[in-house]
Amino acid sequence: MEKIKMTTPLVEMDGDEMTRILWKMIKDELLLPFIDLKTEYYDLGLEHRNETDDQVTVDSAEATKKYGVAVKCATITPNAARVEEYNLKQMWKSPNGTIRAMLDGTVFRAPIVVKGIEPCVKNWEKPITLARHAYGDVYKNTEIKVPGPGKAELVFTGEDGTEIRETIHDFTGAGILQGIHNTEKSITSFAHCCFKYALDTKQDLWFATKDTISKKYDHTFKDIMQEIFDAEYKEKFDAAGIEYFYTLIDDAVARVMKAKGGFIWACKNYDGDVMSDMVSSAFGSLAMMTSVLVSPDGNYEYEAAHGTVQRHYYKHLKGEETSTNSVATIFAWTGALRKRGELDGIKELMDFADKLEAACVETIESGSMTKDLALITSIKDPNVLNSEGFIKAIRVKLEEKLA
Ligand code: NAP
Ligand code: MG
Repeated sequence: MEKIKMTTPLVEMDGDEMTRILWKMIKDELLLPFIDLKTEYYDLGLEHRNETDDQVTVDSAEATKKYGVAVKCATITPNAARVEEYNLKQMWKSPNGTIRAMLDGTVFRAPIVVKGIEPCVKNWEKPITLARHAYGDVYKNTEIKVPGPGKAELVFTGEDGTEIRETIHDFTGAGILQGIHNTEKSITSFAHCCFKYALDTKQDLWFATKDTISKKYDHTFKDIMQEIFDAEYKEKFDAAGIEYFYTLIDDAVARVMKAKGGFIWACKNYDGDVMSDMVSSAFGSLAMMTSVLVSPDGNYEYEAAHGTVQRHYYKHLKGEETSTNSVATIFAWTGALRKRGELDGIKELMDFADKLEAACVETIESGSMTKDLALITSIKDPNVLNSEGFIKAIRVKLEEKLA
């Protein structure tokens, strides 16, 4: 079989620990035999980040802006223990945080749905994609523990000296205070990312806040989303047969529980933090959750939602067998290859991505899976495979499909 040709390189961001091991296996078994793989390689493994003073992370984000599509392996976010373990020059920042800030992007997380791994919510037939606005609000707050009686005010002083002043509360005793903010720029970027991704994936978009109570703060989110939608996206949504839908957050939560899935749920920062954990755990497994960072100008970085699976890596280092699920990492590659194919007009690449995803799903649905899934599947007597065996089983299905 002739290998599929690519024209533009994918930005490849290698990573750490067990996922780095899976990364190589995936390339060797599932990609390189079938694709003339073109990538611009960046080693985001912690050792190399340390050697380059983290410049490699910045370079990889710049390359993503240049080429438009990246695929990323999970990476270690250093803490004190990692500084010691890897003898780091300093506690380097989270690569995901650096890349997200440079691309000004929004992260969309979606579960991979397979028969045999049923969501806890039985009417969820299709994936629910969650988009979290990852800037500001309570995550960048200023707090005061009020010691006793007194007046609390909210004051804004403009650059020209003009002042806006509101009373928050006249305290008659001790209490608490919190100041939060957001910016039009950040909300605007979020809006574009959400509308673009909805069009891209042809799914309805839901957005919810508490604008009935928060008449300026939350209402501004609602207004900005609506203005941008009406001005730039309404016609495109109509043409794609999809809908933008705004409601109150409590109504959204109630509706989500009754819905069939198959839509994107855009959330403010806190709602997204809380709801993404609820949605992902209800769908079954972190190892079956994909993640894509979308920038407002249409750059894409695909990855798995889980981390480097450290515990499995230490077993691997001791020569013990591991059964680590590679599906989310494979889907990061297929997402990136499909997008590259779409942008460059290479249909074979898009077809390949579809077939590789189908091969993963069918492998699991036929009863062959890794241990994490075997523990939660409704399939009787699953065939539990090790990390490599699972990837080889997927290859067999893939070759059937490509034949
Ligand atoms: P983790 O790597 O997601 O793993 C947590 C646990 O979840 C594992 O120990 C394992 O459970 C299970 N699990 C996760 N992915 C799995 C898979 N593919 N197959 C089978 N089981 C899987 O989270 P962590 O251990 O808290 O973090 C490890 C490192 O990853 C940290 O250094 C953190 O900074 C980094 N991290 C990176 C990213 C990213 O790059 N996007 C995201 C999160 C965390 P059992 O041990 O019970 O089998
Ligand atoms: Mg959380």
